[in-house]
Amino acid sequence: MTSCPHVVDLPAADPEPAEPGGCAECLATGLRWVHLRICLSCGNVACCDSSPGRHAAKHADSSDHPIIRSYEPGEDWRWCFVDETIV
Ligand SMILES: [Zn+2]
Ligand SMILES: [Zn+2]
Ligand SMILES: [Zn+2]
Repeated sequence: MTSCPHVVDLPAADPEPAEPGGCAECLATGLRWVHLRICLSCGNVACCDSSPGRHAAKHADSSDHPIIRSYEPGEDWRWCFVDETIV
């Protein structure tokens, strides 16, 4: 069970990835990422907390979009940055 109240605010369908090729900010600055995450509020693709840029966490913080899903093939878990839990 989840104690995350943010799930209900998500769009009914997952958004299309804004940049299917990877983390837009890493691509722009030449950083490499470890894993990719997608913002379920707007479709922003960004890198994980193990990546140097940590852009998914920064996006969640700056845009108030708390929930990401893994953008790795075969993974579909979701994470809430606010509640710090799988949702
Ligand atoms: Zn939450
Ligand atoms: Zn990045
Ligand atoms: Zn977003």
